[in-house]
Amino acid sequence: MTIEALHGAVDLGGSHVGLALGVVDAAAGEFRLVARRDLEGGGYDGWQTVLDRIAEGMLELAREVGEPPAAIGVGCPGWVDLEQGETRFLPNLPGQWRDVPVARLLGERLEAPVHLLNDVRAATLGEFTFGAGRGTSTMALFALGTGIGGGVVVDGRLRLGPLGSAGELGHQIVDPGGPLCGCGARGCLEAVASGPAIAAAGVRLLRSGQAPALFDLSAGDAGRVTAETMGEAAAAGDEAVTKELERIAGLVGIAAANVVVTLHPELIVLGGGVAGLGDVLFDGVRRTIADRVRVFPTDGVRVEPAALGTDAGLAGVLAWAASRRGAGLGLHRDHG
Ligand SMILES: [Zn+2]
Repeated sequence: MTIEALHGAVDLGGSHVGLALGVVDAAAGEFRLVARRDLEGGGYDGWQTVLDRIAEGMLELAREVGEPPAAIGVGCPGWVDLEQGETRFLPNLPGQWRDVPVARLLGERLEAPVHLLNDVRAATLGEFTFGAGRGTSTMALFALGTGIGGGVVVDGRLRLGPLGSAGELGHQIVDPGGPLCGCGARGCLEAVASGPAIAAAGVRLLRSGQAPALFDLSAGDAGRVTAETMGEAAAAGDEAVTKELERIAGLVGIAAANVVVTLHPELIVLGGGVAGLGDVLFDGVRRTIADRVRVFPTDGVRVEPAALGTDAGLAGVLAWAASRRGAGLGLHRDHG
């Protein structure tokens, strides 16, 4: 592994903020985290406090390792202004971090350039460079969790668009008359296939009396029904639950089929907690792509699980920091 330089990575979230120092060899598809820590208190305090802790934590890591990072990448849960290095709207953090000059404030403390990126776009870049997408040229990632995020890589480049928002795959409309989504539209994939949407479907089955195994697993308590217990109930023989999961997998499949006809990727990666449903999800998505995309053969499109788990975001912002270092402000860059 050719070590170019030490870089810093920040994974900013609500319940969790992770810091790491690491090295990347993007050409070889390898990264190594040489030091890491989780910040106490996560991201639920005001932005000044959180940025202070990030700066202090990063300086401590650099002292431990004996070398400062050449650049730092920060993965943010929401909309960021890549050019200005400011957060615009992080809906799940207190105060929503509107127009916070994160790159300037952290950059002054750490004496290094700081580059922001949406967290799921960061995970996409991580999986593409180091994980499930190694060796591919065009891929898409669906992050299926409490919400549904996404990212796309086209011909070897992370596609960001003018607002860094390209690849919001969870906000494709898959059910025109469907439920309202948090974004304000109706029938988005996120509104019908996120973890909470799957749990809500499970609660309906629980109350209808059609899901005895789910009833046992949750002790009849609607508050204990999750995507995970739905998967367990299906495995334990609840046919109605299996059917419901197949229906939801079909909706993810429609979204994936839309991506297939748009990009003809070699690979679609499914990550996030909901991907833990396993075969019922992956087989449903594969079957839907095969059934619904008729205009060209899709045999070459693989649907695979994410490979890096929760490290995908840290790895991705490391690669982002390394690729942006000294690179000016052009948004569409090679990451190799
Ligand atoms: Zn939406």
